[in-house]
Amino acid sequence: MTVGQPDAVVVGAGVIGAAVALELARTGRQIVVVDKGGAAGHGSTSASSAIIRFNYSAFDGVATAWEARHLWATWPEHLRLTTRRPLAAFRRTGAVLLDAPGPAPSGVAALFDRAGVPYERWDAATLRRHLPGIDPGRYGPPKPVDHDAFFAGPTGELGALFTPDAGFVDDPQLAAQNLADAAAELGARFLFHHTVVGVDRRADRVTGIRLADGGRIAAPVVVNAAGPWSGGLNRLAGVGGDFTIGVRPLRQEVHQVAAPGGCGTGPGPGPVIADPDLGTYLRAATGGHLLIGGTQPACDPLEWIDDPDEADPRPTVHRFRAQVTRAARRFPGLTVPNRPTGIAGVYDVADDWTPIYDRTALDGYYVAMGTSGNQFKNAPLVGRFLAALVDRVEAGHDHDHEPVRHRCEHTGNVVDLGAFSRRRPVGAGTSRTVMG
Ligand SMILES: Cc1cc2nc3c(=O)[nH]c(=O)nc-3n(C[C@H](O)[C@H](O)[C@H](O)COP(=O)(O)OP(=O)(O)OC[C@H]3O[C@@H](n4cnc5c(N)ncnc54)[C@H](O)[C@@H]3O)c2cc1C
Repeated sequence: MTVGQPDAVVVGAGVIGAAVALELARTGRQIVVVDKGGAAGHGSTSASSAIIRFNYSAFDGVATAWEARHLWATWPEHLRLTTRRPLAAFRRTGAVLLDAPGPAPSGVAALFDRAGVPYERWDAATLRRHLPGIDPGRYGPPKPVDHDAFFAGPTGELGALFTPDAGFVDDPQLAAQNLADAAAELGARFLFHHTVVGVDRRADRVTGIRLADGGRIAAPVVVNAAGPWSGGLNRLAGVGGDFTIGVRPLRQEVHQVAAPGGCGTGPGPGPVIADPDLGTYLRAATGGHLLIGGTQPACDPLEWIDDPDEADPRPTVHRFRAQVTRAARRFPGLTVPNRPTGIAGVYDVADDWTPIYDRTALDGYYVAMGTSGNQFKNAPLVGRFLAALVDRVEAGHDHDHEPVRHRCEHTGNVVDLGAFSRRRPVGAGTSRTVMG
């Protein structure tokens, strides 16, 4: 396959790559997006729980999620599509962030205050009033469900932070398709069923990519948005030597069960529940179901894998039992079926579970990677981050020494993109879990 020279190639048409393509197209660039899959959003995006919440360990993470939420809430306006198509929808359910084991989460509240995220502090009585089916007992830290200690009585009661503006996107794959359609309307071309097998360079400058069928696409800018395959693409590009942050693919299951009563107050879907005390999260799904995921409790082994293509997409009995039993401890009306139902996806986990949105030492080669199971919510804004980075760096700005700052259109917050640098100090106060 031979393609006329675009201004930029984006590798990956997941929710991140499609968002990057849209925002780069909006800068007037000719864009080609290459994906080995058959359509936008068929990679790890397709398995996403697509929860939109705002609690992250650092201000820039909170401010990013809060701004991106406004883009989901005004999705048609964000996309500016000129033709009618089915659109993904943001469901505003609110999110209940139960207290984590240890001291009360005053740090999160302080970040919400600074970023302007509305929240309420709930005690156990308020939790019971809003969620009649909940057991607000304090059981943490999480324990394996086959240990007696798991069934020990509570040591007290939990409170929570409630953020009324949180929720979820009902169809993550469709959201990626919406972004791709909007980019295509601006002239972006999507090449599906094509695998990038090489990155061309001349000295320290990227010059394009090579495809498995022998084709080449020359371009002065290449963006790695390859999801869990991003580390492999960097190796092909000979990039990564100056990164302080590594990435690794992690298989992760999300289970689906019938929702018991008492997970919400009204007829609509109940709130998202983040439960670090037991090590799970829950959100409503279609047909009266719940999605149940995990928050990587320290007592559970992590399932690191070498090749994302080898990840078995089927749920396993033992992980299903662990996650659903934990959720059933919190909502005793929930029954744990014998047969596992759900899916497995793959996270592109960065060492500190914070993404890398940055230039690299190879001029013209950018990365939007390391999304660590927590960046679906930020995707529309990540497109803007990458467009700003490409614009500024290609114009000669030294982002490594003076990080680009992004002023958020809706919230007015300023995000320092240095927070997502490939060269940031590792371990600077993050949760080191999917919570970010
Ligand atoms: C189970 C699960 C639950 C999650 N839940 C949430 C959540 O509730 N909230 C949240 O905010 N985030 C969540 N996430 C994280 C979020 O979904 C991801 O961060 C996001 O979808 C990653 O998008 P992406 O575009 O980077 O990757 P992908 O969707 O994986 O896209 C990468 C694309 O690159 C293509 N590609 C890779 N290598 C090549 C190559 N060499 N040549 C051509 N194409 C290539 C692939 O085919 C793929 O389509 C979850 C993730 C998982 C797996």
